[in-house]
Amino acid sequence: MERVTIVGGGLAGMAAAAALVHHKVPIRLLESRPRLGGRASSFRDQVTGEAIDNCQHVAMGCCTNFFRFCEMTGIRQHFEPARELYFFGPQGEMTKFAASRLPAPLHLAGAFFRLSYLSLSEKLSLGRALSRLAVATETSITFADWLKNQHQPPRVIDHFWNVVLVSALSESLDRIGLQQARKVFVDGFLRNPQGWVVEIPQQPLEELWAGPVRQYLEANHGLVEVGQGVAKVELCNVNHPHSQANGWRVTGLTMRDSRMIPTGEMIVALPWYRLGEIFPEENPLAEIIAHTRQFEAAPISSVHLWYDRPIIPLPHATFVSGLCQWLFIKPQEASAQEHPQQKARYGYQVVISASRVLAGQSQESIIAQVENELKGYFPALGDAHRVHARVVTEHKAVFSPLVGSEALRPAQQSPIANLQLAGDWTKTGWPATMEGAVRSGFLAAENVLRRLDQPAKVLADDLPTSRLPRLIWGKLV
Ligand SMILES: Cc1cc2nc3c(=O)[nH]c(=O)nc-3n(C[C@H](O)[C@H](O)[C@H](O)COP(=O)(O)OP(=O)(O)OC[C@H]3O[C@@H](n4cnc5c(N)ncnc54)[C@H](O)[C@@H]3O)c2cc1C
Repeated sequence: MERVTIVGGGLAGMAAAAALVHHKVPIRLLESRPRLGGRASSFRDQVTGEAIDNCQHVAMGCCTNFFRFCEMTGIRQHFEPARELYFFGPQGEMTKFAASRLPAPLHLAGAFFRLSYLSLSEKLSLGRALSRLAVATETSITFADWLKNQHQPPRVIDHFWNVVLVSALSESLDRIGLQQARKVFVDGFLRNPQGWVVEIPQQPLEELWAGPVRQYLEANHGLVEVGQGVAKVELCNVNHPHSQANGWRVTGLTMRDSRMIPTGEMIVALPWYRLGEIFPEENPLAEIIAHTRQFEAAPISSVHLWYDRPIIPLPHATFVSGLCQWLFIKPQEASAQEHPQQKARYGYQVVISASRVLAGQSQESIIAQVENELKGYFPALGDAHRVHARVVTEHKAVFSPLVGSEALRPAQQSPIANLQLAGDWTKTGWPATMEGAVRSGFLAAENVLRRLDQPAKVLADDLPTSRLPRLIWGKLV
């Protein structure tokens, strides 16, 4: 059987590849960088020699396709659920956030009521708005405007809505569309008791992709070529010029090293801002490419810090105000504790989503601000010696979920019959996440399987809507 060619070795491309080889369809995966993973990848820090992720990635219980991909490729055990989160309020007070045994959506009610930095009336106001959000249908309003219409108190906006959404969507509330915000709360908090559980990789992502995922693909008739950039997609139009039918076909690829690769079925899984680069001027994707140019991108920064001693007694922390949003302990700390004589350093990572405020600031200035804030929460930091620090910013980390941006997202089946599009930015109903990327890859793979007369369902079901939310709000689509 002819290989399906997949361009782009990010999560979308890897997921499409995994789904196809799972159904015994051979693939060729072409990635321009020397490693797989795209925006979810790692690099080696020159000073510590450690592989560190460009940014800490987490998944949630509602990411059913991402976990199907992990199970398919044998990496599920490398993600650990964090069933307790630790929220730090504006005065540094810590609240443990955990679900009770009550059914959804009451499973988190106790956790919300324990949030020490909101008053009782603020919590009640928050509860009312959450319930209205579940059934909100407007499509042309920003989330900030919707919150204003709901008379949400400023502290609830700052210390709750903002905290959840900036982390999940990497955008500010005055730019996020209401429906994109609604999805986060419905899937994460209201629909099913498992939806909110944060899952944290226990290894640098690069080790998962380069190890088990690549091995899975190669053991199942997959050809994985890294460092192989595609320069151009070759097209032909087999129709008579006056025919109404679309006779466009992809015939192959020209690689950056001038190699030609003929291809039958193809999946292009590039980020939106690269799509236009590999298609010739005249092509039936012109409208899609024009739409990708209207996408706006949001940056995410991560501040990597290493100290000579542990600075926090928790595995992670969430901050509801200030510059820092999340703090994670690097997995290496475990080994540092086991072999203190070998590795006298303890690594941490602070995540700052929608980090436009950092533009133009020096690394030193950002590190100093972050450290200052952390000292307020963790006094042990005052005695610690910083061994190393660096800031990594992904300027086009995710596309912004603006009002109207859903209409710009194309389906996986492109106007060219043997060409599928994949990537977190294609139409999946999900924001730019690992789940969105995997969904797009699975949807593209389903289309290819159908075209090869091997139809199969690849997409995993969403978590079911539990009984009580169904009674209160209906199916919650
Ligand atoms: C800093 C940061 C933090 C994030 N945090 C989270 C998180 O916590 N949870 C979460 O779910 N999501 C998170 N995301 C989002 C998530 O990483 C992305 O949504 C997802 O990885 C996108 O995957 P993709 O395959 O669609 O695109 P990409 O990862 O961009 O993959 C596209 C691939 O195509 C390759 N390519 C480009 N041009 C060519 C060419 N000409 N030829 C061949 N290959 C080419 C690229 O090198 C790349 O590997 C984060 C993203 C960033 C940047």
